[in-house]
Amino acid sequence: MIVVMKVGSPEAEVTRISEEFRQWGLEPEKIVGKHKVVLGLVGETATLDPLQLREISPWIEDVLRVEQPFKRASLEYRHGEPGEVVIPTPSGPVTFGQHHPLVLIAGPCSVENEAMIVETAVRVKAAGAHFLRGGAYKPRTSPYAFQGHGESALELLAAAREASGLGIITEVMDTADLDKVAEVADIVQVGARNMQNFSLLKKVGAQDKPVFLKRGMSATIAEWLMAAEYILAAGNPNVILCERGIRTHDRQYTRNTLDLSVIPVLRTLTHLPIAIDPSHGTGWAEYVPSMALAAVAAGTDALMIEVHPNPPKALSDGPQSLTPERFDRLVPELSQIAKVMGRWAEPATVLA
Ligand code: PEP
Ligand code: MN
Repeated sequence: MIVVMKVGSPEAEVTRISEEFRQWGLEPEKIVGKHKVVLGLVGETATLDPLQLREISPWIEDVLRVEQPFKRASLEYRHGEPGEVVIPTPSGPVTFGQHHPLVLIAGPCSVENEAMIVETAVRVKAAGAHFLRGGAYKPRTSPYAFQGHGESALELLAAAREASGLGIITEVMDTADLDKVAEVADIVQVGARNMQNFSLLKKVGAQDKPVFLKRGMSATIAEWLMAAEYILAAGNPNVILCERGIRTHDRQYTRNTLDLSVIPVLRTLTHLPIAIDPSHGTGWAEYVPSMALAAVAAGTDALMIEVHPNPPKALSDGPQSLTPERFDRLVPELSQIAKVMGRWAEPATVLA
């Protein structure tokens, strides 16, 4: 249930109403928008009559029922206003959100050694990236495949952060590793395979670092938003949704089907920022630039792109990784589309 307050509602009245809702066993969450204050009511609201609720105060403009099972993630929860997630990085704060410039996340699938992660960080930063990605704990289909270097790779990410000034995003697979990961990461990633690991979702929701929630490979949009709801309900308001391709029937030519239609669909459902990962979304480096450009044209708030200094030698996901040179060329291409979309902060340097 959403209670929309009239413009200019006195603070004391908002507090009084909130207190009254609390006495009814509801948890009012105050959202201060540009023009209005909205109270999101969480709890057993099914039997409440919106018309009756309006009688509580002359300052209540409207009371709306949220039809979706996801409440905190819903667009109504912010009264139709897109949300934003602001993340401090060594180079200054970066904001993910519909009214902000495109955010670029780049880096290798896995952190392999110090030289490669620092080199990649410095290269992608120079090209225009805001965040370095790189897995320390890797979810691999085969138990015999490279599993990531774990804790020691977290230290290498910290070194790359220091050397490049980039923010760090890295995946947590196990609740037991969360504190260590969150110490180094500016954004904690929950991977596609863990999208419905509810104990992990509750744990990342109970800590402060923003969460990058990838869509499960067979998850519906509703399931994905309910997974986000777990994190929001546990107290962490900073969730970014990332589409990374859904299970395809055509494994011969593409690894996944990148579902770019989620961008306009999610805009009607949620205030949460949206990222697109065309690397896992296609599985092949040669297709990544086209889908990255298409994602920007469709209005994505961020891109996550795998970049490796030597893709043929990568320990994971080499075939879908761009070289730093290709990433250098891609950023000015992205800037062209992003400028048209009003989503570019500064002119991208066109490299010779
Ligand atoms: C990754 O980002 O390297 C990764 C494993 O992604 P996903 O969870 O989307 O497969
Ligand atoms: Mn990968």
